Amino acid sequence: MAVTVKTFASASEAAGALSSDRTARYLGGGTLVMRALNEGDVSISTVVRAQDQALTRIDASAPRITLGAGVTFARVLAERDLAFLHAPARSIGGPAVRNMGTVGGNLFAPNPYGDFTVALLALDATVAVQGGFGSRDIPIEEFLQARERQAGTLVLSVSCTRPASSEAFRYRKIARIKPKGGSVMTLAAHLPISGGRIAGARIALGSMAPTQIRARAAERALEGRSLDAATIAAAASAAIEGTSPSDNALGSAWYRREVVGVHLRRLLSGQE
Ligand SMILES: Cc1cc2nc3c(=O)[nH]c(=O)nc-3n(C[C@H](O)[C@H](O)[C@H](O)COP(=O)(O)OP(=O)(O)OC[C@H]3O[C@@H](n4cnc5c(N)ncnc54)[C@H](O)[C@@H]3O)c2cc1C
Repeated sequence: MAVTVKTFASASEAAGALSSDRTARYLGGGTLVMRALNEGDVSISTVVRAQDQALTRIDASAPRITLGAGVTFARVLAERDLAFLHAPARSIGGPAVRNMGTVGGNLFAPNPYGDFTVALLALDATVAVQGGFGSRDIPIEEFLQARERQAGTLVLSVSCTRPASSEAFRYRKIARIKPKGGSVMTLAAHLPISGGRIAGARIALGSMAPTQIRARAAERALEGRSLDAATIAAAASAAIEGTSPSDNALGSAWYRREVVGVHLRRLLSGQE
């Protein structure tokens, strides 16, 4: 089937084209869209692109950072002010995928992908979108819960607050194929400390449910406590609560449930 490519100068024109055509798909870096087209996905008749510079802007100088949806992982890795996001960016694909793949595209990447989004979920990011209704900011958790319904909406940018220290933000991806590969599971933790106690714990998991999820029971086990062995053990044993992983070629649902607590314990203990 013929595919029409429409390129727009502004993000709002691209958003208009996306929202008015059910068969239109936005092209970010194309690492997944082009694969779908090459495999003959007939649900896509129109590919929408935007050359708007705002989509590739990085604002990393303030405590609250903003990444345009079209920012690639290679650019995140080149930005010293974004050091806290280097581990998630580095964990994605190989160099070719990191050169093309974007932060916006990662929000839509199905299991076993979406690693960068796990980090953004732990950091309580906000997603700026533009659709037929105009533009608005959505908390990332809400965005992910409605991800299937987001077709026709253009993501403009994501923003989050920089963690207070390198200790306060941790990330770990478990993959079978080293150094890179799809995720058996991905974990990120944001652990702000106030007066020696955790205040506002956020634990995010990838490949443990149809979309990235918060491990709320583990967060509750950490909240208001110091990060000692007993707290870590309580959080690790609560990690499985609320998860609904699937079987795939990288691991079974049973295996994922068995090891999620082990990996959370390692992440929280600072073990490699
Ligand atoms: C070999 C290979 C290895 C990979 N390894 C990893 C990995 O280790 N970890 C990982 O997380 N991912 C991985 N991926 C998946 C993918 O490369 C990344 O998730 C990447 O971030 C997707 O971004 P993209 O810009 O290329 O998306 P695209 O292919 O352009 O788009 C993907 C989806 O997102 C939508 N989209 C993109 N941008 C926007 C926007 N601004 N607004 C609205 N919708 C948008 C598209 O319409 C499409 O539905 C891999 C892919 C390949 C091919």
